[in-house]
Amino acid sequence: MSDLFYEKITTDNLSHPLLQEKEIEVSVLRIDQIHPVISGNKWFKLKYYSEDAVKNNFKTIATFGGTYSNHIVATAAASNLLGLKSIGIIRGERAAQLSHTLQEALSFGMQLFFISREDYAEKKLPPEIDIQKTYLISEGGYGVLGAKGASEILKQTDVSPYTHICCACGTTTMMAGLVTGSLPHQQVIGFSVMKNNFDLEPSLEKLLQENNNHNYQIVHDYHFGGYAKHKPSLFSFMNDLYSKTGLPTDFVYTGKMLFGLFDKIEKNEFAPGSKVLAIHSGGLQGNASLASGTLIF
Ligand SMILES: *Cc1c(COP(=O)(O)O)cnc(C)c1O
Repeated sequence: MSDLFYEKITTDNLSHPLLQEKEIEVSVLRIDQIHPVISGNKWFKLKYYSEDAVKNNFKTIATFGGTYSNHIVATAAASNLLGLKSIGIIRGERAAQLSHTLQEALSFGMQLFFISREDYAEKKLPPEIDIQKTYLISEGGYGVLGAKGASEILKQTDVSPYTHICCACGTTTMMAGLVTGSLPHQQVIGFSVMKNNFDLEPSLEKLLQENNNHNYQIVHDYHFGGYAKHKPSLFSFMNDLYSKTGLPTDFVYTGKMLFGLFDKIEKNEFAPGSKVLAIHSGGLQGNASLASGTLIF
C-alpha cells in the first residue's frame, strides 16, 4: 500500500501536573490520525499482507474478527482502496441490527459470513470460500508480515531520545514490530487489554524470532475486567486526561495503556528524566458504542 497518509503523523508532548511533578516526559505518536477508517496500527499491520496478496495475484482477501473488530473494518477499507474483494468471517450469529463496525465494513464492499463460535475457534472456513483464490490474513493481523509493517511505526519520528516505548496489546503484532524497531537503550512496555492472557508472551516471542535480545515486557495489571470491559475509574481517567492534555483515547486499548502508564509513573516506577513515547494506535471510533455522556470528547 502507498504511504499516502503518513505525512499527517504528529507527536504530541503531554503537559500534565503529574509529569511535571515526577519529571517525566510523555509524548504520544498520533498514528490514530493517519486515516479515518484504517485507523492507527491497522494500516501498518495490513501493509505487507496486502502487498503480498497483490504480488501473488490474489483478487480477494479474507480475515477473521468479532462484531466490533477494528481489524475487520480496516481490512475492508484497505482492500477497497486496492481494488481487491474482501471477506469478513465473523464470530457468532448475525444480529438483527448489525454493529456500526460491520455496517461500515459492508459499505466498503466486504462480504460477511457469520460462523458459530465453535467453528470460529477452529477457524473453519465457510464452504463458499475458494481457498485457492483467497488470501487469508489471520485474526487481528497476527503474523510476521504484520509485525514487519508495524516496525515502520517507529520510522515516523526520531525515536532516539526516548527511554521507553509504550503500546496497548491485543495480539502483540504491533508490539513485536515496536520491539524490532526499538534501539538498544530503550524498553518497550506492552499493556495487555485482556484479563490474564499469558499466551501473549509466547505469541510475541514467536514473532520476534532471532530478534528477542531486546528489552521488553508485557504488563497484565490494567485490563479492567477483560477485553472491552470497563469501569468508571477508566472513564474518569480518560476524561481527566482529555481535559488536562487535549488527548482523546479509546476505552478498549489506548485508555487502558495510558491509565497503566500514568499509574506506574505515580508509583515512581519510572526514574526522573525518563522520556516515554506512547503509541496512539487508534480505535477512537469504538467509543461510539458507549452511552452518550460517558466521555466528554
Ligand atoms: C487492534 C488494536 C491494537 C492491538 O494491536 P495488536 O497488534 O493486535 O496487539 C491496539 N490498539 C488499537 C487501537 C487497536 O485497534
